[in-house]
Amino acid sequence: MQTYDFAVIGAGIAGASVAYELQSRGRTLLLEREPLPGQHTTGRSAAFSVESYGNLVVRLLTRAGRSFLADPPEGFAPVSLAQRCPMLWIARPELAQQLAERAQCIVTAGTELVEVSAAEARSMCPVLREEQIAMGLVEEQALHIDVAALLDGYLAGFRARGGELATRAAVTGLRSTRGSWEIHAGAARHHAGVIVNAAGAWADEIGILAGARPVGLVPLRRTAITFDPPDGVDIAQWPCVIDAGETFYLKPEGAQLLASPCDETPFAPCDVTADEFDVAVAADRVMRATTLEIRHIRHRWAGLRSFVADRVPVIGMDPEVTGLFWLAGQGGHGIMTAPSVARAATSLIVDGALPTDLKALGITPEMLAASRPTLRSEASTR
Ligand SMILES: Cc1cc2nc3c(=O)[nH]c(=O)nc-3n(C[C@H](O)[C@H](O)[C@H](O)COP(=O)(O)OP(=O)(O)OC[C@H]3O[C@@H](n4cnc5c(N)ncnc54)[C@H](O)[C@@H]3O)c2cc1C
Repeated sequence: MQTYDFAVIGAGIAGASVAYELQSRGRTLLLEREPLPGQHTTGRSAAFSVESYGNLVVRLLTRAGRSFLADPPEGFAPVSLAQRCPMLWIARPELAQQLAERAQCIVTAGTELVEVSAAEARSMCPVLREEQIAMGLVEEQALHIDVAALLDGYLAGFRARGGELATRAAVTGLRSTRGSWEIHAGAARHHAGVIVNAAGAWADEIGILAGARPVGLVPLRRTAITFDPPDGVDIAQWPCVIDAGETFYLKPEGAQLLASPCDETPFAPCDVTADEFDVAVAADRVMRATTLEIRHIRHRWAGLRSFVADRVPVIGMDPEVTGLFWLAGQGGHGIMTAPSVARAATSLIVDGALPTDLKALGITPEMLAASRPTLRSEASTR
């Protein structure tokens, strides 16, 4: 039986990144049920980092994570973690006002957005239909993330710092005695002072196992497809295009195009697969907004984006169960926010305060806390 300062449950991007940060502050164990890390939501993302996406707290966390993605620590990864990929928001006439109002909030919070005409939008992505664009906005600084390199970088750094990763180690029992947790994971038993619950869609199940009340996490299934671009068309410089109503997005993904119908179907935690109806909706929405003809879908998949009612990640100690730290509810932003969220969690666990750069952005522990009043209420699906 080994004793650790911290035991992190779940080796998706949330668990891997926080384990990397925690290991520099104390002995850390990372426990993953699957044979390999990153097999669930982390391995299924669209891999963008966009400051104009999500609510204010999420956007600020994304901003705070950007410098790590653009300029990681020396030796963190053998390849660059992120490439520039502008985000182009488009609005049909009936949604132009909504997009303009949203842009106002985003710009006020300090993110640069440039308004573009329909012709300029089409020069960035020539397949867009002109009548679909009453308003266009571009976030030039948006990034495409190499998620595998980011996850591998965190795991390699964690091990290099002396951290221990156990795979095929499903946590099935948690017992707290005299300020220490006894953890049952597979056939092994471990002891740890603090448990970090980074179990993605399963985080409420882990909370219950630890004797806590669930935070009201709702896993929502999201579908993605890839398909070939038209013959001879160079898509390398295309932006990520998203419509103001968030009914679809389209982006280059290597030599293919990736699209999602932005579906949000509540689902019990599981190894989720794509539903053919959502796959068809993805193709249909892309073809309505563009001149693309999708004859053959190369790949299709789905993942669970898990949200709490206010759609702000839960990053804080459980208000009732000592030594249980929540790192859950990253929804559709867990990759882009991972660097800042991991630092926030580590700093809250070890120092009881947020890092100064996050404080300077106006983020407070109360906004992220597991004790905030919006949690454990009726969970929302939107
Ligand atoms: C289609 C799609 C597109 C997306 N696009 C983006 C995007 O462009 N940008 C972005 O930032 N985010 C995006 N996301 C969201 C992002 O992928 C998630 O926010 C993020 O991956 C969540 O990471 P996680 O570590 O919390 O969860 P997960 O990756 O699901 O990891 C949780 C881990 O916990 C493990 N676990 C669960 N229970 C136990 C147990 N009892 N014992 C041990 N281990 C356990 C699981 O096996 C799993 O490996 C997208 C998601 C989807 C589905």
